[in-house]
Amino acid sequence: MSRILPEVRKSYGTIPNYIYGEFRSSMSARLLKIYNPALDEAIGEVPISTRDEVSEAVDAAYEAFNKWREVPITKRIQYLYKIKDILERHLEDIARIITQNHGKTIHEARGDMRRTIDNVEAAISAAYTLAKGEYMQNIAEGIDEYMIREPLGVFVIVTPFNFPTMIPFWFIPYAIVTGNTVVVKPSEITPAPFHYIVELIHREAGLPKGVLNVVHGDGSVVEELIKNKKVVGVASVGSSQTAERIYRLAGEYGKRSLNGGGAKNFVVMMPDADLDKYIQSIISSFFGNAGQRCLAGSNLVLVGEIYNRGLKAFVENAAKLKLGYGLDESVDMGPLVTSKARERVVSYIEKGIEEGAKLILDGRGVKVPEYPRGYFLGPTIFEGVTPDMVIAREEIFGPVASIIKANSLDEAIEMINKSEYGNAAAIFTRSTEAVRKFISSVEAGNIGVNIGIPAPIAFFPFAGRKRSFYGVLHPQIDTIDFFTDKKVVITRP
Ligand code: NAD
Repeated sequence: MSRILPEVRKSYGTIPNYIYGEFRSSMSARLLKIYNPALDEAIGEVPISTRDEVSEAVDAAYEAFNKWREVPITKRIQYLYKIKDILERHLEDIARIITQNHGKTIHEARGDMRRTIDNVEAAISAAYTLAKGEYMQNIAEGIDEYMIREPLGVFVIVTPFNFPTMIPFWFIPYAIVTGNTVVVKPSEITPAPFHYIVELIHREAGLPKGVLNVVHGDGSVVEELIKNKKVVGVASVGSSQTAERIYRLAGEYGKRSLNGGGAKNFVVMMPDADLDKYIQSIISSFFGNAGQRCLAGSNLVLVGEIYNRGLKAFVENAAKLKLGYGLDESVDMGPLVTSKARERVVSYIEKGIEEGAKLILDGRGVKVPEYPRGYFLGPTIFEGVTPDMVIAREEIFGPVASIIKANSLDEAIEMINKSEYGNAAAIFTRSTEAVRKFISSVEAGNIGVNIGIPAPIAFFPFAGRKRSFYGVLHPQIDTIDFFTDKKVVITRP
């Protein structure tokens, strides 16, 4: 058996809320267990916080706002430097907690942490540059005009299970550096890594009370937060159903919102694709994070004569992936996040069989002898899939690939554009002409060219279209606009 890295903590107990600079145990009798999915072991629980607790968290953020907005931006930036330093120093521990609670491999978790930190750095840089105003002298005789950006107040941040540290940090640093205060509602499935970060920030960053607050719970807690009169807006990421629900609710209550939704991403392999060079990038697009990425490939479109070669390379390499506990550094793929998630993905595999697709690699029977209770599911591949099948249309969010045949790039693009989703799309080719056409015709927000997971770095917006995104401004750098409003001043001496 290979070496397993030690867990940072065995258990997290009942995770408390974090309100006005204090960890407060919830009074709620409604608790949800959280698990280590490789071991099928409960490692703690989260409360579904009560209404009063939600109000307390918003009140804390509201009270802190008036003082925090007056803290000079140069000082607010210093807190982000401290947070960056904390995340750097504790990166390895936090990554292990991500693996323990989520199941992804330690390599993937370390990658998440780099992206988490990148967002702190981008927010620092944006605060020095983008968040400043604009000035124009003499717009008319003796008249000057300038624009300033102001923070808006209390923002709610709602995050999904699959990137438990990176996605909260798509928002928190930008929101607070521009002078807002936040209430974060982390995923109820994977709250442990973010809770650990909040403990570190509490101990080491000296952030004024009430700037960062956390309440735990499910969708009902999110609804309470959005309805609270003192909340000005919500940034959320989750399934399309959740994104649409929050978008509508926020609209109804007059709040601004930004909501990332689900995905169904296409990867197109052209006849001239350099398979030797890029097959690993394609494999990791479909099976990295056990397929639980909003940028994961889900439909592999093989165009023209690459079909046999492409299929063979894809299946052979997928079959080689080593499953196991992510804290074992030799593992390529961890389990699914919960037993329910596994059941859901298995039901899609059954659906594919029922629809007449040909199952050429079946991950259902894959055994991981050292971890017999883990929620493992091996790479699964269907051939002969048509774009109208449920498995080609709906988000599966697991290690299941559908192979679709196309005769031309035009046909592939047509399939992509018929999808309800528009998060990501990738093309593998040597042809600059094909690339140009793909980029300009495909209706998706994040485009990969010979890149399987086109994940924008923090200095770019994390784009997304159609049912993959509800709102106008996107996560990461765009949120400087989302979290501020502009004021224009026209002056005469
Ligand atoms: P989810 O929608 O179940 O939950 C996401 C968050 O929303 C959680 O904090 C949850 O408590 C809350 N929530 C759930 N139901 C709600 C409701 N009715 N009202 C208000 N809030 C509600 O998503 P998940 O299973 O945690 O995450 C996986 C999903 O997230 C996938 O669909 C994936 O594609 C998507 N995702 C999208 C992006 C993106 O950038 N577009 C990034 C990562 C994940």
